[in-house]
Amino acid sequence: MLSFDPDKIALPAGHFINGKHIRGQGEQLAVKRPSDGLLAGELYQADAALVDEAVSVADAAVRDSGWASCPPRQRGAVLKRWADMIEVDPLLAQLESLGSTRPIYDVVNHEIPFTADAIRFYAECADKYSGDVLPTRDVSLGMLVPEPYGVIGAITPWNFPLSMASWKCGPALAAGNAVVLKPSELTPFSTVRMAELAVQAGLPAGVLNIIQGGGAVTGSALVAHPLVRKVSFTGSTATGARIMSDAAFNGMKPVTLELGGKSPQLVFDDCGDITEVAGRILRGFTANGGQACVAGTRLIVQRGVHDALIGKLIELCQGFRAGVTWDESSRYAPMIDRRQATKVASVINSARQQGAEVLVGGQRFADTGEGFFWQPTLLAGVANDNPAVQEEIFGPVLTVQIFDEEAEGLALASHPTYGLCAGVHTKNIDRALRAMRGIAAGTVWINRYGRSGDFIIPTGGFHGSGIGKDLGRQAFEACQRYKSVLIDF
Ligand code: NAD
Repeated sequence: MLSFDPDKIALPAGHFINGKHIRGQGEQLAVKRPSDGLLAGELYQADAALVDEAVSVADAAVRDSGWASCPPRQRGAVLKRWADMIEVDPLLAQLESLGSTRPIYDVVNHEIPFTADAIRFYAECADKYSGDVLPTRDVSLGMLVPEPYGVIGAITPWNFPLSMASWKCGPALAAGNAVVLKPSELTPFSTVRMAELAVQAGLPAGVLNIIQGGGAVTGSALVAHPLVRKVSFTGSTATGARIMSDAAFNGMKPVTLELGGKSPQLVFDDCGDITEVAGRILRGFTANGGQACVAGTRLIVQRGVHDALIGKLIELCQGFRAGVTWDESSRYAPMIDRRQATKVASVINSARQQGAEVLVGGQRFADTGEGFFWQPTLLAGVANDNPAVQEEIFGPVLTVQIFDEEAEGLALASHPTYGLCAGVHTKNIDRALRAMRGIAAGTVWINRYGRSGDFIIPTGGFHGSGIGKDLGRQAFEACQRYKSVLIDF
């Protein structure tokens, strides 16, 4: 039985610094439950002094505890124990479900195993990747020696709090760094429990610290702190630009930026079984209520399969229902808050004013009170400059554009701002590979849409979708800096 009573869950208090819960003081922020808009709890926003304390603790802990200098396999063993504990902790799953948009069924069956496995992947990296011996003159030995940065500042968004934390903490900790992580102020609770479990698994106190607060106060103080040597951020493109600039002016620190997207789903006449393809397209834009960076929100469909595909999609969209995230039977995510729901409504309105036709959806589910469940929505008749095609909406809204020739489809698929992902649906291998080469996106999925459990595949965007990669060995390597050594003999 996965259903639970959200009013009976004890929320972890405040920040988690040096292995202890700290309530904090100062400005209080209210945290609401996305499913019904009721108050979940409050948190005290960390000011610059508390951020300084957390970073100083992390800097001391990573040296004094031996985390950076211990045998890498030892780090891997702690991380594996942590992953095992994450997988079986009922409170963690309930905190994630209560405070975020994730239904408990999805949290238990997907989010938690995915989070634990990402940490296991990096536990296994700890002693697998080395530096290099370089081809130098034969009286010298040239080496490239990797070393951890020290303290990495991590900042995560609200849409997948646990897995985003695992993508940041897994590689950073495995490589011997300490982490100070700021989750989104909208979803603060589950990440604290995750850090608490890390200490119980044997991570030295102070090596992973969680600070709570908004971006302008807490996030910017973290980025600017002189002992934070690298910043790993996931969130919107606008915030990413701000962080890149702040990191440049506060110590020239490297940044990994995983940002927004507006990804195309390119469907050719020879895509194969229409029902199967419709299912992929549907999951691509409705997963987590469309609140996913990788959401495939622009359907670009060849004329020959347009009618059949749209007919099937409309039928599937009509099968959704709303339900609070703590009910085991719920499968569909609410919008994170009123502001996000208003944004979805406003882009749909602007799209209609510029000629878009709503084929299905276009409004909230009735009778969901302050829980903002938005119906899966298809918008047809959209020109390329329509706001619904241009803007990342972060809701379950799919625009539909029709093409005749392959080149036309490829031209529509590329986006002027974003380049995160693309889906290509065709049974013609030559066409699939031409599309793969032709679309400027950090990830191209062919005859599928969405991640697999293969953590070896990195994720990251081109252009306005970001810099650097999460996942893969690239994320591990990016948590190390490389020292060039030359020895004459
Ligand atoms: P956001 O940019 O508003 O906030 C993200 C985080 O940054 C939050 O923790 C926030 O408090 C913090 N922040 C805000 N301003 C800051 C500042 N000046 N300095 C430091 N920190 C600051 O994004 P969001 O609304 O929480 O998340 C949705 C966005 O995240 C979407 O654009 C989505 O595409 C993107 N996203 C990208 C990926 C990816 O892997 N590319 C994954 C998930 C989400």
